[in-house]
Amino acid sequence: MKPRVRFAPSPTGYLHIGGARTALWNWLYARRLGGTFVLRIEDTDQKRSTPESVQAILDGLRWLGIDWDEGPGLPNNGGPFPPYFQMEKIKRYHEIAEQLISEGKAYRDYTTAEETAQMRKDFAASKGIPEERIREAGFKYTSPWRDKTEKLDKPYLVRFKLKATGAKIGFEDLVHGRLEKPDEDLDDFVLLRADGIPLYNFGCVVDDHDMQITHVGRGQEHINSTYSQVALYQALGWTQPVFAHFPLIMGQNGEKLSKRKHPEADVGVHRKNGILPHALLNFVVRLGWSHGNDEYFTREQMIEFFDLKDVGKTNGIWNPKKLTATNEHWIKTFPPAQIGAALLPYLAEIGVSDAKVDAKLETAVKAFAPRAKTLVEMAASIKPYYAKGVTVDAAAATKHLDDAGKKMLALAKTKLLALPEWTATAIDPIVDVIATETGAKKGMIAQPIRVAATGGTTSPGIGDTLAMLGKDETIRRFDAVLGG
Ligand code: GLU
Repeated sequence: MKPRVRFAPSPTGYLHIGGARTALWNWLYARRLGGTFVLRIEDTDQKRSTPESVQAILDGLRWLGIDWDEGPGLPNNGGPFPPYFQMEKIKRYHEIAEQLISEGKAYRDYTTAEETAQMRKDFAASKGIPEERIREAGFKYTSPWRDKTEKLDKPYLVRFKLKATGAKIGFEDLVHGRLEKPDEDLDDFVLLRADGIPLYNFGCVVDDHDMQITHVGRGQEHINSTYSQVALYQALGWTQPVFAHFPLIMGQNGEKLSKRKHPEADVGVHRKNGILPHALLNFVVRLGWSHGNDEYFTREQMIEFFDLKDVGKTNGIWNPKKLTATNEHWIKTFPPAQIGAALLPYLAEIGVSDAKVDAKLETAVKAFAPRAKTLVEMAASIKPYYAKGVTVDAAAATKHLDDAGKKMLALAKTKLLALPEWTATAIDPIVDVIATETGAKKGMIAQPIRVAATGGTTSPGIGDTLAMLGKDETIRRFDAVLGG
């Protein structure tokens, strides 16, 4: 059977690294087995859900190339499917809630928040303990409405009517093995709030069932919810999916990577910092999963090697050095045209809007790939090659553009203008040619050229440098130094 998996983010902030990993692992599993990957936006927390967050999640997934296979409607203009939103399905949750009520598996609870608060207070007082400790002291909310069926004209919650028998409730987890606990530890959790909006456990189970999800892969912080969800599956007589609860991702300081304390938890930050989407994927795929000692995976290899059952229990550790190394690796490894395409937005960001993926940009990528850690760095290095003219560094000019230097520059200009074509291969030998003809040291020829062309003393090889600038711009910069 082909798996159907999902990613079900709550749109209450940016796309979190942990979320991106959950999405990736599920997506890889679907791709490997020819299954289906569904995106479901769990937007029932109306106070915290925002359209900006939905957008950040969609943008982040698209940037990473994690595509989803279906939606409530058709894709717009060759774009992605619209995602599912839980708030668009409210009627369906009500239908199931009514069914559970009519079967005596759920009930309307008219207890007010004040009444519940009073019960907690009374319990604490009777035990002589602070209210925060009532749970551990055995407090369990028991609604006076649990066994009643009348319908009043008052606001109510719909609660699940947990039938505790003293038996164990649990599930086989692909990562953790058998997980179970006494069913008495569960409570009559809320299915629908007074405003009719479902809470997470209920919406999640109805949707996972309706969407025929076969494997639920999510963070291990949801293990506790899963027990309640299993109780719901049983009450509804629905087949439960296979569960896989993923280990945490820890920050460098040993704390869970949290939105509040770790800016690096935001996928968007890495995009801004010039990390290639594939580098980020390659980095996060290994936070809790491995394939031998392999460090680098192409997309195809990730799809080929990844399996939910190989996810480990050990928490992943965020390692910024490794992320940078992974980025450098892929900057060097991908074809220059691909890196060039990825660079365009970073170039545009710093004002280079006329760059396109062409021989010039590919030459620039090749020249700077060996030393660039990020696309931001690379864009900054490349920018001067797209400018008209250059400001020559005064110290470099004094040192290399004295009379002797200018003489070499003039000679170079003559040779360059005579070249049949303007390519790095054609340009490179001129330094040697001039050296042979004049007996000057190569540095005495190359440095004046470099300073005139780039304004400074460091740049890639002369051939690459001038090829990137193009003929017209090179000659223009030479003339600016030579005085026309
Ligand atoms: N909306 C939940 C979250 O973002 C989804 C959990 C799940 O995958 O079931 O944490």
